[in-house]
Amino acid sequence: AVFGVVAVGLFLKGRSAARALIASETRAKHMAYHDHLTGLPNRALFSERMAQAMSEMRRSGRAVGVLVLDLDRFKLVNDTYGHGAGDELISDIATRLKSLTRESDIVARLGGDEFAIVYANADPRGLWILANRIVSELSRPIELPFGRVFPGASIGITLVTDFRIDGDEALRQADLAMYRAKDAGRGRFQFYEPEMDMAL
Ligand code: GH3
Ligand code: MG
Repeated sequence: AVFGVVAVGLFLKGRSAARALIASETRAKHMAYHDHLTGLPNRALFSERMAQAMSEMRRSGRAVGVLVLDLDRFKLVNDTYGHGAGDELISDIATRLKSLTRESDIVARLGGDEFAIVYANADPRGLWILANRIVSELSRPIELPFGRVFPGASIGITLVTDFRIDGDEALRQADLAMYRAKDAGRGRFQFYEPEMDMAL
């Protein structure tokens, strides 16, 4: 009987240790692939998901939209109200972006004040509507304890239909278009066009 009790005790202890190990591994994985401030996927997870979306596009023939979004004059918020206020604004923007997108879209924080979205089964009209909504929603003021902040963002968009384009190239195109939107006055969106490469 003593032997039996010891064996059961050891088994239970071993099982709870294994569970703790699995839970801590899951936590570590989550931290490695998510942004700690917003809880959104980080650049690493975004790249993986985008690669999946691209192979799905090659298989199904349905286009993929990639949007890159950078907040306008965000440094001013940090400089005026402090880094904590900047962090609050970034979290608020993440929540707004999630509420504007579909469950199946991938919304990520690439770093700093830069976000990206992968939009599967895309068409120009759908992307146009989404970008329009984001621009107007992100220009809505946010009330922070220390005052009202007017954010704003510039967005670059690329619609990928070419099977030879991979995730990195799609992100580069959207980034290039985003800088064009900045140059054109900020608070707007811009689709990628091949002539932008020539100009570059
Ligand atoms: P632009 O309109 O040209 O984008 O100007 P900007 O002021 O938004 O400048 P930019 O995008 O180049 O810089 C983003 C700044 O975001 C730089 C850095 O000080 C700040 N930043 C980066 N990560 C964080 C963060 O996690 N929290 C806060 N509060 N600020 C951050
Ligand atoms: Mg910025």
